[in-house]
Amino acid sequence: MQFSSALLESAVNEFSRLPGIGKKTALRLVLHLLKQDASQVTQFSETIARMRNEIRFCKRCCNVADADLCTICSNTYRQQQTICVVETIRDVIAIESTQQFNGTYHVLGGIISPLDGVGPDQLNIDSW
Ligand SMILES: [Zn+2]
Repeated sequence: MQFSSALLESAVNEFSRLPGIGKKTALRLVLHLLKQDASQVTQFSETIARMRNEIRFCKRCCNVADADLCTICSNTYRQQQTICVVETIRDVIAIESTQQFNGTYHVLGGIISPLDGVGPDQLNIDSW
């Protein structure tokens, strides 16, 4: 792709680094942002930066959180003694979307895979 603007090319390159986003899709997204109000694009970029810089991991379950404890662990109506051990945060989101589980979670952050060099030390087991 040939670009008449180095800034446009740089933005396309950044978007195309995202998983599942090729150069054509990246260009479409960047051109969409160019048509938006500058304030909307500023809010978009600030939201992404804040998410990346300020997000934490729950001290109890290793889920994403905005404070020391996630909203699930800090919810006193949930059964704290029932713990669902999951591989990733995506599993928590999937189970929560069913609205059928009222316990808490423990997010391992992966699975043991000796062939890939992932042992218990690489998972969030110590915090349990
Ligand atoms: Zn938690």
